[in-house]
Amino acid sequence: MSTERGTVVVGAGHAGTQVAFSLREAGYRKPVVVIDSEPDLPYQKPPLSKTFLSGDQSISQIVFRPREFYSSQGITLLAGRQADGIDRKSRTVLLAGGTGVPYEHLVLAVGCTPKRPDIEGAGLDGVLTLRSLRDARRLRSSLLTASRVVIVGGGFLGLEIAAAARTLGKHVSVIEVQDRLLERAVSAPVAAHVAGVHADRGVNVRCGVQVGRIVDDGSGRVAAVETTDGSVVPADLVVVGIGVSPNEELATTAGLDVAGGIVVDSELSTKDPCISAVGDCARFPSPDGAGSVRIESVQNALDQARSVAKKIVGRPAPYHAMPWFWSEQFGTKVQMVGLTGGCDNVRLTGSVDEGKFSAFCFRDGLLRGVESVNSPRDHIVARKTMSVTRLLSLDQLDRAGFDLRDLGGIPR
Ligand SMILES: Cc1cc2nc3c(=O)[nH]c(=O)nc-3n(C[C@H](O)[C@H](O)[C@H](O)COP(=O)(O)OP(=O)(O)OC[C@H]3O[C@@H](n4cnc5c(N)ncnc54)[C@H](O)[C@@H]3O)c2cc1C
Repeated sequence: MSTERGTVVVGAGHAGTQVAFSLREAGYRKPVVVIDSEPDLPYQKPPLSKTFLSGDQSISQIVFRPREFYSSQGITLLAGRQADGIDRKSRTVLLAGGTGVPYEHLVLAVGCTPKRPDIEGAGLDGVLTLRSLRDARRLRSSLLTASRVVIVGGGFLGLEIAAAARTLGKHVSVIEVQDRLLERAVSAPVAAHVAGVHADRGVNVRCGVQVGRIVDDGSGRVAAVETTDGSVVPADLVVVGIGVSPNEELATTAGLDVAGGIVVDSELSTKDPCISAVGDCARFPSPDGAGSVRIESVQNALDQARSVAKKIVGRPAPYHAMPWFWSEQFGTKVQMVGLTGGCDNVRLTGSVDEGKFSAFCFRDGLLRGVESVNSPRDHIVARKTMSVTRLLSLDQLDRAGFDLRDLGGIPR
């Protein structure tokens, strides 16, 4: 490895690899080192709960780039190496085993770890989570032999896994503690539609119930899930999708600020100007100006990575990209733009009956986001419009007949 200092990135997920790629695209000539504890070539995560899980895509189809690409770009990929600490004084990342990797600028792109429920049986064989390729391989092979699958958590991840498992012919139940699916993610009408899609396909969706314990079959394997209302759902595979916690240890031990994510400013710098944080692990000033947020999406990971690369090559700018996200279950595509949590008014366009509609979500009379079901054109128009015209009122939209093209100056 070169002794010249350059940029070191910890984490080779969507955010970390994009930092490296964008640096090279911007003409950055100093060394770029990307460190990841996973041994595989860096890969896309969304297929892990969709096409990779259902067996429709292989690993070679989901890696970002072939191995030669990294060497051709002068990007040193240290795969299978865990970063254990940061010595901020000497500006060195400390790898497990004792090696030090010096940096001029360090980017933390360390992602998150799935939460496990603190209940009896959570550690039994056959109780899995999904975050990494390793997890996905294990889940995929468990699905080959499982017949009754229980998903704990009715968020996007759990529902995508439910759809993949059901498509493979399994008996699938989803248990969600909130009164409806996707409580933290989308508005009630969109969640109700998604619940209907799952019910139509034979998924047993149970909301408003909590898992009390996971029952042992007597040999250390899962046999059933018992809910706190006393019912027992037989299971030979349980997948827990109850959210994630940001990986904060490196930042904490290095004395950086953490608060439900590594705290960064609008240029994605931590309190140490030589260290940035991007992607799922970063808590940054909210694009809608209300406090701070941590966003788990590919768009956020990629856009923040591009923004930090620009900063490193001397073109800093505040990060304020409009967030967007997508999910796909049973062929139903849900796409969102903006941050719709806490909205107090939802207006629908299109046809809910035909499963093609958009939900315009308002808070305090202002448009905060648009959620589109099988309406990709609505989504694209909303993304373009909301990126240029950030504060649209309900009155403005009413007058425009909820046609965003007029408001964003987008040609018909
Ligand atoms: C199954 C699944 C499906 C998803 N589907 C969608 C979707 O449809 N649409 C969407 O927008 N988003 C989706 N997401 C979310 C999206 O994938 C994440 O937001 C994105 O991967 C975040 O990228 P990241 O680089 O910040 O984190 P990650 O991709 O998690 O990468 C972090 C990396 O850091 C490494 N690391 C952590 N600590 C250390 C350390 N100390 N030393 C070395 N390496 C370390 C980890 O091994 C990991 O590889 C999905 C996520 C999952 C898990």
